[in-house]
Amino acid sequence: MRIVRAARVLTGRRGEVIADGEVLIDGGRIVSVGPRGSAGEAGEVGEVLELPEHTVLPGLIDAHVHLGFDAQVDPVTRRSPESERHLLLRMAENARKLVSAGVTTARDLGARDFLDLALRDAIEEGLAVGPHIVAATRPITITGGHCWYMGGEADDEAGVRRVARENLRAGADCLKVMASGGLMTPGAPPSWVPQYTTEQLRAVVEEAATRGKGVAAHAHAHAAIRSSLEAGVATIEHCTFFTPSGHRYDAKLAELIAAAGTYVCPTVHGAFERIRAAHGQEMLDAWLHGISSMREAGVRQIAGTDCGFAAGGVANPADLYVGGLEVFAMAGYGNAEIIELATVLAADACGVGEVTGSLDPGKRADLIAVAGNPLERLADLRDLALVLVSGRSVGQTGVDTVTASVG
Ligand SMILES: [Zn+2]
Repeated sequence: MRIVRAARVLTGRRGEVIADGEVLIDGGRIVSVGPRGSAGEAGEVGEVLELPEHTVLPGLIDAHVHLGFDAQVDPVTRRSPESERHLLLRMAENARKLVSAGVTTARDLGARDFLDLALRDAIEEGLAVGPHIVAATRPITITGGHCWYMGGEADDEAGVRRVARENLRAGADCLKVMASGGLMTPGAPPSWVPQYTTEQLRAVVEEAATRGKGVAAHAHAHAAIRSSLEAGVATIEHCTFFTPSGHRYDAKLAELIAAAGTYVCPTVHGAFERIRAAHGQEMLDAWLHGISSMREAGVRQIAGTDCGFAAGGVANPADLYVGGLEVFAMAGYGNAEIIELATVLAADACGVGEVTGSLDPGKRADLIAVAGNPLERLADLRDLALVLVSGRSVGQTGVDTVTASVG
């Protein structure tokens, strides 16, 4: 057993701070969380790590990643040249980058060939370094639809049930369905066009529910957002209220989402400044307005970066996570709210709230320590002193990555 003791311990729940606190860890589990001395004396319980200038908090959660894509690689044209063997190595490197940014759980919302499951299991075995992975495997999409090349095409109710069942049979932790078109697939419906009916989406939700799993629905279009909500998905991804003429926030629809308690992952990533340079302030303002309006409407939003997918031609690498949290601050969120949506709420939305996302006895020892106080300065989340994934320390060796990275 060991104790991690710090100037402050954040449980993850909004505003819950234990000054001069400590966390007692036994192997991969948290035993207790409380003020200094609450875990017992060092001699009795084992080694003590003293971090007097630091904040300890739950490991960060990225609710929307694509480990199978490189930040600068177009997934469509890349598909044929890249072998599964090579791709798996790329995914392992992206997983390493994520955890090097303090992310201890990531939900992969679209990978081909069930490679996300192979990587997930390898990380759990200790064969690879990375966060715990909640894997959706192949996204369910219409023939030739958004991300069809990941292998999850289905066009009617029987078809979506079939792909859902195959994904679950392979070991998927959740399902992903492309309720609307998107931006990245040539020839697919654009993002303002729905791909499925409410009944078809409901069939996906039913299949997931038979195994106690949730569904993440990719939805840009108003109609797709509405039918995802009505179908009972766990999370609505993007939720951009996109139309042929740009973002058009719908306050009525947002009210319905808030009333249902459905989570929204607005896929806020850290390449914001580069996107501003590439696409201009106006488009970004409209998008940010949607995020802050949803906050005001009481919609529960969560952190997720969509890393791997270039956003409008701008690279979106796996280690810009904290930059995404700073965009939430631009949308009006306070730091305590942001930490909650990056930990407790994201864990709940991804279906792993029972095992991680907060510092509580019995949960996995997924936690980070940062120099400073992120409640006052969000950027302090970049100053990592400790990353534990199920109690296993992820060392920062100083060896830089060979593929695209921060900066
Ligand atoms: Zn995505």
